[in-house]
Amino acid sequence: MAEKKSKKSDNKKEKVEDSVAEEERKRGSSDNARLSDDAPKAAAKKPAVHVKKTEKKAEHLKEGAARDIGVPVANPPKLACSDLHCPYHGHLSVRGRIFEGAVISDKMDKGVVVEWDYLMELPKYKRFMRKKSRVAAHNPPCINAHTGNIVRIAECRPLSKTKSFVVIEILK
Ligand SMILES: [Zn+2]
Repeated sequence: MAEKKSKKSDNKKEKVEDSVAEEERKRGSSDNARLSDDAPKAAAKKPAVHVKKTEKKAEHLKEGAARDIGVPVANPPKLACSDLHCPYHGHLSVRGRIFEGAVISDKMDKGVVVEWDYLMELPKYKRFMRKKSRVAAHNPPCINAHTGNIVRIAECRPLSKTKSFVVIEILK
């Protein structure tokens, strides 16, 4: 009896499977018909999409994909660079103080000297004394500031004995 029952259930299962298969065939045939209709269109579309993607990638590389350094910058660099000490394309994080000054020397390799002046109050005489600050800053190749440029520099980790600032943009 048990065998018969199992046989019956098997038969039922087979029937069910057959019906499912038939439905699938019907759907498949209709899908195939749709696919065959769309196939030439899809073939025509695919290469166009591929070309667009590559174009986008190329633009991305050209523009340099400057990283957001966390400081609002009006003129981020348009060119890319492979400098590890670049805040936009390398691994250098920028934190701390930000100054604006004039580049007075670009003789260093990937470095500039930035100078700015400020007023120091002398309470005894109720007057101000004009003082100067000079700071050596890293000059990434994508920014490439020269003598005479007005630049904005931001504090970073010490990059050498004297450099712990990096030029983040050229203002003039
Ligand atoms: Zn860079």
